[in-house]
Amino acid sequence: MKKKITIAIDGHSSCGKSTMAKALAKRIGYAYIDTGAMYRAVTLYCLEHGMIDGDNVNKPRLRRHMPKIEITFKVGQEGKSETWLNGKNVEKEIRGMEVSNKVSLVSAIGFVRRAMVAQQQAMGKNKGIVMDGRDIGTVVFPDAELKVFITASAQVRAERRFKELQSKGDTTTTLEEVLANVEERDRIDSTRKESPLRRASDALLLDNSNLTIEAQDEWLYQEYLKKVQ
Ligand code: C5P
Repeated sequence: MKKKITIAIDGHSSCGKSTMAKALAKRIGYAYIDTGAMYRAVTLYCLEHGMIDGDNVNKPRLRRHMPKIEITFKVGQEGKSETWLNGKNVEKEIRGMEVSNKVSLVSAIGFVRRAMVAQQQAMGKNKGIVMDGRDIGTVVFPDAELKVFITASAQVRAERRFKELQSKGDTTTTLEEVLANVEERDRIDSTRKESPLRRASDALLLDNSNLTIEAQDEWLYQEYLKKVQ
């Protein structure tokens, strides 16, 4: 039997991290954790409880509420992992633009990050996990055996995200809005004080602007094999 390792996939917004991480996890029988979904779920909670006013998050209130925010993943009907917030399936809501527009504000808060990182470390303590996010190789699992940092041009990422939103029935959001959101999240994620998005020095760099999904999946699988053989 192959040894179990930890696989950390980080990178910019909407560059296909989760597509790639999910495909690998399925192929090698590992658990997959989408950490962005966790920050998105906290953001949805804030929105539902009126804790966000413009660019301002009511931190004292959110801090008091943190112990009441329970995020879990369950496998849905199509065999896909879905995000649940306090007993409710929120998978669809957390992907919408309302949450996307505020998530970088919430994920920049130190006590939110510490709570999420502790949960992520607990989920991955037995290895055999593929986790994607922004700080997995730098903060959550600095000792991960395989680290990948993915990027692609902002235009390519916005076009992919736009197509995804359209396929989910969103006919109101424009490509320009998606591009602005992608660029704004990159800016906030990379410049925040708490665990800014950066490539770990030992992470493999992949620019997938011109790669097909199949090609990037195969590349990642080969990198995994190198680590376990
Ligand atoms: O991966 P996704 O784009 O769904 O992540 C949404 C947001 O959550 C990111 O823009 C970032 O602000 C935040 N995030 C983070 N750390 C992670 C994963 C996501 O700060 N590990």
